[in-house]
Amino acid sequence: MSWLRSARTIDGALVDVEITSGRIAQVIPAGPPPGASPPSHVSPGDCDLAGYVLLPSFVEPHAHLDKALTASRAPNTTGDLLGAIQAMQGIADTLTKQDIKRRAETAIKIHLALGTTAIRTHVNVGGPMGMRALEALVEVRERWRGLVDLQLVALVSPPLAGQPGKDLRAALKEGADVVGAAPHLDPQPDRAVRICLETAGEAGVPMDLHTDETLNPNMLTLSTMADLVSETKFPYPVTASHCVSLAVQGRRVQQGVSEQVAEAGITVVTLPQTNLYLQGRDHPGTTPRGLTAIGPLRAAGVTVAAGGDNLRDPFHPVGRGDALEVAALMVTAGHLDPRDAIQSVTDAPRRALGLPRVLIAPGSPADLVAISAADALEALGAAGAQRTVWKAGRIVARTTVHSEITEPATQPTALRSTAPQQTPRPAGAAE
Ligand SMILES: [Zn+2]
Repeated sequence: MSWLRSARTIDGALVDVEITSGRIAQVIPAGPPPGASPPSHVSPGDCDLAGYVLLPSFVEPHAHLDKALTASRAPNTTGDLLGAIQAMQGIADTLTKQDIKRRAETAIKIHLALGTTAIRTHVNVGGPMGMRALEALVEVRERWRGLVDLQLVALVSPPLAGQPGKDLRAALKEGADVVGAAPHLDPQPDRAVRICLETAGEAGVPMDLHTDETLNPNMLTLSTMADLVSETKFPYPVTASHCVSLAVQGRRVQQGVSEQVAEAGITVVTLPQTNLYLQGRDHPGTTPRGLTAIGPLRAAGVTVAAGGDNLRDPFHPVGRGDALEVAALMVTAGHLDPRDAIQSVTDAPRRALGLPRVLIAPGSPADLVAISAADALEALGAAGAQRTVWKAGRIVARTTVHSEITEPATQPTALRSTAPQQTPRPAGAAE
């Protein structure tokens, strides 16, 4: 049993949170009643969170850990999707299993330090990569089990009707958790969607497709996917990632397709950084943002989660792996209310990945992140690195930051140390 004391919730309440057996046992107003004596027992896991905001830990619904941290090795000379794909193909021979594992684990540590305790990553399967990226990520998934929930999506290249369709089935036998593909790149996009759905149905696993990652309004496989899922009463979770072309449809089509998607129970994942980077380069004036039609989808009742997608690879060379950057872009480019933006990197992706819900409430899994900030808006806006992260009630990452700033003073050369930001410390520790 441990206590997280004096934490600020997203609603602004100041609370003490008791954690027992990996779950939140109780949440009570912070501090002892006036005149009460201090708690007689202090557990080593107790933390003073005064000056911190406590949120459910972040969930990354769409990553590419096998490609992470390759931007310097594989520059994207055109800056668009095709340029990124070609840049990765150019270094395929150098992507050994050991290299993939090393970069994937570095990427996991970056995410974990920033408060992400679950990641769904797409993994290239077939073609020049064969099964080695999947083998690497299966090993990584098992090694990090208990610290990070890792889900592996087998991502095959077109055409699904050929060898890649067989590779997809093989990948599920090799340990992939989810069916993936990019039907908009397939010579027969609708057929590709159908093959993916059949494959997922046979294996009894979810499906998560790169969907309509193009500004071409004539490519709208999202509608096909929704129709097929509804017609076949597909029983497993389905996610549509990107859905860029929905954004360039007329309002009536956006609303109609959004209603189809809602009826089919498909979750949409929007990926602001990568879409802002890759899309719209042939529109140098009023450049389209490349984000999906977030408003109509949400209005229809669709769960819209947001993810970071690429961590410094040719698809987005300046990715940070920080869910708070994603959430901030959901405010700036996605026009969400800040509270909804935080939900888009916490609650919504949890639903997309089929993970138990996390609330600052009794009974909830204690997968949490505390961010040094006065309130939730400051946490989102400032996105400071000083964070503490819990997985199943255990601290799995803790980052402290110390700044020194020279201020105008009577002694101009003096370097004054600012008061360090408060660090969560074991209660009862010596000052
Ligand atoms: Zn992707």
